[in-house]
Amino acid sequence: QISVLGNAHFSTSSIKRNPMRVPNLIGGNFLDSKSSTFIDVINPATQEVVSQVPLTTDDEFKSAVSAAKKAFTTWRNTPITTRQRVMLKFQELIRRDMDKLALNVTTEQGKTLKDAQGDVFRGLEVVEHACGMATLQMGEYVSNVSHGIDTYSIREPLGVCAGICPFNFPAMIPLWMFPMAVTCGNTFILKPSEKDPGCSVLLAELALEAGLPEGVLNIVHGTHDIVNAICDDDNIKAISFVGSNVAGMHIYSRAAAKGKRVQSNMGAKNHAIVMPDANVDATLNALVAAGFGAAGQRCMALSTVVFVGNSQSWENKLIERAKALKINAGTEPDADLGPVISKQAKERIHRLVQSGVESGARLLLDGRNIVVPGYESGNFVGPTILSNVTANMECYKEEIFGPVLLFIEADSLEEAINIINRNKYGNGASIFTTSGVAARKFQTEIEAGQVGINVPIPVPLPFFSFTGNKASFAGDLNFYGKAGVNFYTQIKTVTQQWKDSASESKINMAMPTS
Ligand code: NAD
Repeated sequence: QISVLGNAHFSTSSIKRNPMRVPNLIGGNFLDSKSSTFIDVINPATQEVVSQVPLTTDDEFKSAVSAAKKAFTTWRNTPITTRQRVMLKFQELIRRDMDKLALNVTTEQGKTLKDAQGDVFRGLEVVEHACGMATLQMGEYVSNVSHGIDTYSIREPLGVCAGICPFNFPAMIPLWMFPMAVTCGNTFILKPSEKDPGCSVLLAELALEAGLPEGVLNIVHGTHDIVNAICDDDNIKAISFVGSNVAGMHIYSRAAAKGKRVQSNMGAKNHAIVMPDANVDATLNALVAAGFGAAGQRCMALSTVVFVGNSQSWENKLIERAKALKINAGTEPDADLGPVISKQAKERIHRLVQSGVESGARLLLDGRNIVVPGYESGNFVGPTILSNVTANMECYKEEIFGPVLLFIEADSLEEAINIINRNKYGNGASIFTTSGVAARKFQTEIEAGQVGINVPIPVPLPFFSFTGNKASFAGDLNFYGKAGVNFYTQIKTVTQQWKDSASESKINMAMPTS
């Protein structure tokens, strides 16, 4: 049996147990929690218990914070070239262990192995980006702002930062957070999703192997209590959060009340506008991949299609392509989409689809009640399509987070843009068209932070930032890119004057001017 948690540094008791226990990482040591409460991590394709994750105790949390605080004093003064070199080694080790990381993601989260590799790879790109931190973190300098006076600014690390992760990208999202934070000179407390914590532990093992000193990265597991402890602890200066709106707004306000910076990436309802002139084949493929890929459990999944003009001609072709998708356990080579994360998630998806039907939507394709041979107890939901959807339906107002596409019709591009702009979320929106004029109008008028033009999932690479807006984001500095560096640093501005001793000096009581 392949250990889904690796084994290099763990205390022997944690991996010898059956099911194995997911260790915390405190001060450079992978430690079994002394907690009396553990949560089962369940393989969504089989219902097997993969491991157990602790509700970390308060004492353990305090030890992690104190290890991070202690490590900060030396890490912040470690040359930036050394910090970059740790990231260079880290990215090499992630590549080396790509298959092992992806297998862990598939085992705990359910997505297909190929998609899991993409999850790791999109995180790896942030590590690669962090390798150029010396340039990214550069300050500014103006010589001679006044006679003999120069001013320069320095981007300094904040101290101990923390990251709270969702279940849907167990590799990419931790990698959005700690590589940028620690390469800027901060130390870090990571709280992975309790549903799939293994990949964070594997990544931390690799970070230590790459030379990250003890205490620079720490991991504490748990749910609400540990999150609240992170929000309340005065030693923690900044929190990166990715997840639902309920948790994100709670964390944003609770941590901000304590004076912390927070970047909070939250839920979404991403729309695509399909114009009558769109390239048929490319658009159909894009809608199917972005609507049903990862079983719809991406924050940038396309969940609503607004057809300008008649949707009839698109409907049958989309149904045909959706029906051809293979639903299977993520480890099976033919799988196009795997299970959703939990029984509760599956029930919620069923309920939202049913509510759509009951409020007048047409069920064009029903993926409920699907049974996958060999994986009869898996949380599978097949591709599902509802048309004639209206803005007042619960299935439209709620983020479904499953393989469900909603169809809406609009008479004009203007009306389609208005429909999207009335939606409270603003993560992403795309248009499919061959008209530059329509594309430009869309780009200018659409109220969403990440815009795709003939691109279904416009997630920016790390030299840009992940720029969801409206209810999809709280804070003002986004994840990764320049904004990410700004989030994990504060500016110190120095004004210096060097005069030779012979120059005249008198008291000037007025506000200095040049
Ligand atoms: P979630 O909010 O349930 O959990 C996220 C984290 O918050 C977990 O670590 C969890 O332990 C913690 N948490 C949950 N409820 C809490 C509470 N009430 N108080 C304190 N902590 C709490 O989210 P999820 O189900 O794991 O992830 C799916 C959600 O994440 C979707 O809404 C999706 O759109 C969103 N998401 C957004 C982005 C983005 O970049 N905008 C990316 C990925 C996922």
